[in-house]
Amino acid sequence: MHVALVNVGDEILTGDTTNTNATWICARLDERGVDVGRITVVPDRVEEIARVVNEYRVEYDAVLVTGGLGPTHDDKTMEAVAAAYGRSVEPNEEALEWIVEEGGYAREDLTEGTSHIPAGARPLHNEVGVAPGCVVDDEVYVLPGVPAEMKGMFESIAAEFVGEDRYVETVPIDEPESALLDRIEELREGFDVGVGVYPGEHVRIKLTGTDPDAVAAAAGWLRERVDVRVEDAD
Ligand code: ATP
Ligand code: MG
Repeated sequence: MHVALVNVGDEILTGDTTNTNATWICARLDERGVDVGRITVVPDRVEEIARVVNEYRVEYDAVLVTGGLGPTHDDKTMEAVAAAYGRSVEPNEEALEWIVEEGGYAREDLTEGTSHIPAGARPLHNEVGVAPGCVVDDEVYVLPGVPAEMKGMFESIAAEFVGEDRYVETVPIDEPESALLDRIEELREGFDVGVGVYPGEHVRIKLTGTDPDAVAAAAGWLRERVDVRVEDAD
């Protein structure tokens, strides 16, 4: 399964907010064997959000959108996602009932627009905050921007993101990356595994694949040909 992530918010683009939602969601999807092909940050503008959602819903199996929910004037995401489908937003009775019954809010106290989601969308309940999220046509998932709200809602849909089991081996190495180029090239050519090279204080090579034997064989091949860092080696 290949998905794209869209994070909405002027505050991310100005550097006021660190996009921790993207890192968290990517790690959760990676754990589930799901590939993330894009992380795109867009401002709180209907046409910008609608344009990328429309593009990615065709190109990917699913699109996750975070941020810009709720009834305040700078929250544009529901309107934009609806526009990407040529629909309008409408109040959702199921979402409203949930907010009243589970959230403990009185209907008359809720700001106009609180339960608005794109027509025909499935509402997602917000266990931590108020504004509901939604799923449109089982492909575009709209989640809150506030990290605690986003995480709670993601858990309710995590099972809908399924990929192949992945196997990972990491080899810590005591040589500079520049000295390893030929062996990295040979590794890439010789084994059907993903090869990630992470330079830092020390180089780490991360091998990933869906066949555990191929990952183990690649790791074995590499360990025999590099100076493995002893203190990190298992
Ligand atoms: P609310 O319903 O409370 O308005 P929301 O879904 O509209 O929530 P935003 O208004 O987009 O969320 O963002 C609320 C706050 O959540 C931001 O001020 C920021 O602190 C945090 N936030 C938003 N997006 C992200 C992100 N991608 N990563 C980390 N934090 C974020
Ligand atoms: Mg908001």
